[in-house]
Amino acid sequence: MYQSFTHDALRVLIIEDDHEDAKLVSRFLQQNPTHAVKLEIAESIEQAVQLLPNRDFDVAVLDMDLPDGHGIDSLHKIQAVDARLPVVVLTGHDDECLSFQAIQSGAQDFLCKNHLSGGLLLRALVFAVARQQKYLGLEAVADMDPLTGLNNRRFLYKEFPALQRQTELGQSLSMALLDIDYFKSINDLHGHLAGDAVLRQVASELSRAMADLGHVVRFGGEEFAIVLTSCPLPEAKEVCSALLSHLASISFSIGRKQSIHITASIGATCVWPTDSFESALSRADAALYAAKRAGRDRVSTQGPCMEQLAHRQ
Ligand code: GH3
Ligand code: MG
Ligand code: MG
Ligand code: MG
Repeated sequence: MYQSFTHDALRVLIIEDDHEDAKLVSRFLQQNPTHAVKLEIAESIEQAVQLLPNRDFDVAVLDMDLPDGHGIDSLHKIQAVDARLPVVVLTGHDDECLSFQAIQSGAQDFLCKNHLSGGLLLRALVFAVARQQKYLGLEAVADMDPLTGLNNRRFLYKEFPALQRQTELGQSLSMALLDIDYFKSINDLHGHLAGDAVLRQVASELSRAMADLGHVVRFGGEEFAIVLTSCPLPEAKEVCSALLSHLASISFSIGRKQSIHITASIGATCVWPTDSFESALSRADAALYAAKRAGRDRVSTQGPCMEQLAHRQ
């Protein structure tokens, strides 16, 4: 008996428009006495898309010839709704090229209907779930900064398109880069471990302060990126100023009953619907540079913000 999932039954969504094929797959999966399965059938991508957000599936079995989806396109449509769900493609075509394409696009397996058996299918599904769990675990590790436990730059890069979609819906989004002032001197005076301790405490202060306002990631070194959702630039500037005052008021413990104070500088910008990750970042970076040049321990912004842009048009 396979034991890759914690609940009683393997919950499978079969996306198949051919009734005979759907019946065959169901029979194959239900005939296995050692393993309970719970099946639901969607006859089209549209039906699957409706079911997915409301049910908890472990794995999907996807036909690649559906009334509203063909080939890799069907896979992409399912992934757009649930990127974490493992998908095993099951098709009538024994097509090497398509199977390779499906795996490259993130399918967990590719099976041909002509060579199917109950044991093979169940094994493929259970292994698909196990592999996906491993993959998601590795993804989570790759997205995390081990020193602070915050997400990292890779994570922000990946999430940026989803965040930016809000701006297309008319919501304001601001992005800020925070850089600790004269951080090198902390390492030089107190040692690298003391520097690490400060970074960890700054990270925890930032994530606590931003919990309801947006996302904080460790961008690299002593720099943190902050994305403020539903926040126009003037408001973001106020939030960032308050954040700097808060950081400046804290005694950061660096061991042996020693503590120090720090300041930081922030460059903030408004994210436009036309921005790429890099273009938004380069404005925030230019603003940060301006804050440093102007004397540090301050927020500098680089506009125009969305409201000003709208006004100009
Ligand atoms: P500025 O006010 O211009 O930002 O000066 P700074 O000293 O903060 O900037 P600089 O770029 O000169 O130095 C950054 C230092 O951050 C250098 C590097 O050794 C240190 N650093 C980067 N990552 C880590 C880390 O993970 N731990 C520790 N302890 N130090 C780090
Ligand atoms: Mg079909
Ligand atoms: Mg720096
Ligand atoms: Mg610095």
